[in-house]
Amino acid sequence: MPLYQSSTYELGEDLEFDDIRYVRLNNTPNQQAVSRKLAALESCEAGLVTPSGAAAVSMALLAHLERGDHVIAQEGVYGGTRKLLDSLEATHGIRVTYVAGDDVEAWEQARTEKTRVLYVESLTNPCLDIAALDEAVVFARRHRLVSIIDNTFPTPINLRPAELGFDVVVHSASKSLNGHSDVVAGAIVGAQGPIERVRRFMNRMGVCLDPRACYLLMRGLKTLPLRMQAQNANGLALAKHLSLREDVERVRYPGLEGDPAYPAARRWFSGFGGVVTFTPKGGLARAQAILEKLRLPRIAPSLGGVETLICRPANTSHAGLPAATRESLGVTDAMLRVSLGIEAIEDLIEDFDQALAT
Ligand SMILES: *Cc1c(COP(=O)(O)O)cnc(C)c1O
Repeated sequence: MPLYQSSTYELGEDLEFDDIRYVRLNNTPNQQAVSRKLAALESCEAGLVTPSGAAAVSMALLAHLERGDHVIAQEGVYGGTRKLLDSLEATHGIRVTYVAGDDVEAWEQARTEKTRVLYVESLTNPCLDIAALDEAVVFARRHRLVSIIDNTFPTPINLRPAELGFDVVVHSASKSLNGHSDVVAGAIVGAQGPIERVRRFMNRMGVCLDPRACYLLMRGLKTLPLRMQAQNANGLALAKHLSLREDVERVRYPGLEGDPAYPAARRWFSGFGGVVTFTPKGGLARAQAILEKLRLPRIAPSLGGVETLICRPANTSHAGLPAATRESLGVTDAMLRVSLGIEAIEDLIEDFDQALAT
């Protein structure tokens, strides 16, 4: 697919407003090509790309909500999403109730006449929990709610939530979908109806992804299955290795037998992903010493790129939250989150071993 950087296109005969091609109307060649590819990957009819993952989340939500409406959201959602949801009451008069992802009774109790949207993530950050995805779909359908799921961590290679019945799937394409840490973008996919509704809303709000970013994202997507295969394998191998070490207190990885998320992951996921969260023994001081000693992983937030990244969620994704809230979400000070790249696993394990040995 070549890059068509043009913002506007020549008019033909007898055009309606909707036939005008203009980047802000989300209907130019690179936008359409990458949107179709993303929809196909997620087994959906239609798709859209957005200028960030955060924009995908906000557009998918706001296009389906009006003043006075109510949202039920899984607790422990991505920090940026949490901040957006927390702000909705003041800015839009939209109330949000947070519930545990596996507590179906709590969803029923939280529901009101005004509930319109159920919002979950397929794998939470950084604890890597999996909600009761099948029950979520049943609950949303029973009460005619729009079910929205953030599928950034698994990617459609490991999980396709639309096949489970979710209405709208959102992504930070800045992560694994692009995969090279050089594009910020998002995606929204689903059935024609909801996606058309979001497209019209985005057009009004002036939200669009530049053609060049579309082109780069399309290029990144060409290797998505290969990268995910490598990251699934590296994730599982590092998680297993760390879980056998006496000086590691806890490892969270949905592919580890005995992990709370394992039964759900086995049931729905075809790979467990490249993100591993672990807590070394020895508290914050040792966690920091390990970060300093590691040679291969870069210390940086974000995930899903070809290079391994590591960060301490308490001072990155969850830095804005009070310590008590962090602890209640299971985000301890010493917890480290690794996003595996595609490097040789022997090199990574050797590096983690030398860093942990100090
Ligand atoms: C990174 C991320 C986002 C936000 O995406 P940006 O592209 O950084 O705006 C949303 N959801 C999840 C799960 C993420 O990891």
